[in-house]
Amino acid sequence: MADPFARFEADAHAAVEALARYLRESAEGRGPVLSQPPLRELAAGLEVARWIREGGLSGAPFREFLARYLGATTRLHHPGYFAHQVAVPEPLGAVGSLVDGVTGNAMAIYEMGPAAAAIEFAVLDWMLAKVGFTPAPLPPAPPSPAPHGGGVLTHGGSLANLTALAAARARAAPSAWRDGVGARLAVLAPEAAHYSISRAVGILGLGQGALRAAPCDADGRLVPDRLPAALDALRDEGRAVMAVVASACSTAAGLYDPLREVGALCRERGLWLHVDGAHGASALLSERLRHRLDGIALADSVVWDAHKMLRTPTVCAAVLVRDHRTLDGAFQQDASYLFHEKDEPGFDFLHRTVECTKAALGLRLFLALAAEGEGALARYVERQTALAAEAAALLARTPGFEVAVAPESNIVCFRVAGSDERQLELRRRLLAQGRHYVSSTLFRGRRWLRLALMNPATRLEDVAAMADELRALLGAAEGGAC
Ligand SMILES: *Cc1c(COP(=O)(O)O)cnc(C)c1O
Repeated sequence: MADPFARFEADAHAAVEALARYLRESAEGRGPVLSQPPLRELAAGLEVARWIREGGLSGAPFREFLARYLGATTRLHHPGYFAHQVAVPEPLGAVGSLVDGVTGNAMAIYEMGPAAAAIEFAVLDWMLAKVGFTPAPLPPAPPSPAPHGGGVLTHGGSLANLTALAAARARAAPSAWRDGVGARLAVLAPEAAHYSISRAVGILGLGQGALRAAPCDADGRLVPDRLPAALDALRDEGRAVMAVVASACSTAAGLYDPLREVGALCRERGLWLHVDGAHGASALLSERLRHRLDGIALADSVVWDAHKMLRTPTVCAAVLVRDHRTLDGAFQQDASYLFHEKDEPGFDFLHRTVECTKAALGLRLFLALAAEGEGALARYVERQTALAAEAAALLARTPGFEVAVAPESNIVCFRVAGSDERQLELRRRLLAQGRHYVSSTLFRGRRWLRLALMNPATRLEDVAAMADELRALLGAAEGGAC
């Protein structure tokens, strides 16, 4: 086909048809939820080297390639997918990724993507309001006398945590940008905090010695009553606390830190509170569940991933701050070809991000939201949370199974009797059957099997079938290696 536009149309149609079939099959539980052939075999089967060399992939060979590609994907829409905290993408949100791919609007500066920037600004305002921060006036707006909230979408929660902590560093040590981190800073975070917090501490030049374990209970939740003593000890050591980090919720077990008490204490002492709500902030949508995040508006910064519980295709994460000026000051740097005085009808996000070229992340989130509506997404979060409670009850009554802790989100940790190695071996065998996909985690010093119930198509029966399969595997392994 000579006409490149007609070729695009034909290939894109073929891809959409194949994907629609894929969605249907996956949702019906057909095809393995995952299979992991050797990489070398896949690269050969996909003829990667050949197509790079020759080019011209289109038409029938493209359809064949896509069929093979889809055959080796992990099926997130399969009801047996309950492994990792990655959204089962809402299909219209995924169409947003396609639109973004075709238009290529790298919208960190307004002139490179006005529609994308307008959508990002507006969805950020929607998120700010959910948190309880003051939404930003839509540009062009006269400079507002009162500080308001602000935000930016980043390529993932890890980058969002780095961005928020860069803003915290700019406040605690304003000279650090120019002179480096001479000051003896500290970040106080629960040990259960996501590893991206520790990475951010490293990247920001604080040194791992600056990351201190906040006092926590046996399940890893922050204990506010013991926080003052921990803060006093840091002060006596000559460390300035750059940020207190709270998880909402934690990654491993999905437990929420008590934000109101921690927030009140941070307010009293003038300390920056960073709430990592990458997974759990979506509970803010639900009147029934938002009490888990009670006090979140006391935070200085919040991270909220849309590609976890908002059905948004990977990746799309929000950094939200109570006072927009703190985020505006996070990266104090100049790139004269991008940053210059402009007569602006819109808004440049560039000064708020690590990224320079940035995808139209807001479009994915917006289309997922617009297809479902916020009410339906609230029901989705409620449903998955209720399913986790039912799954935990079911697993707790299964002979030989133990549940770690009553779930507070859609995450369930459980194990069978025996060593940590036994959990991992059992998981390997379960995954090899291709019907159920679970993850695993360390919690309270032990290895657990872990369900992240992301899929709206997963029912309690699917969890029960997984438990039956595990018991059959245990039975088969009696006296064996497992
Ligand atoms: C998933 C998660 C992150 C990391 O987010 P990515 O988008 O995977 O980079 C950070 N914090 C918490 C609490 C998380 O659950």
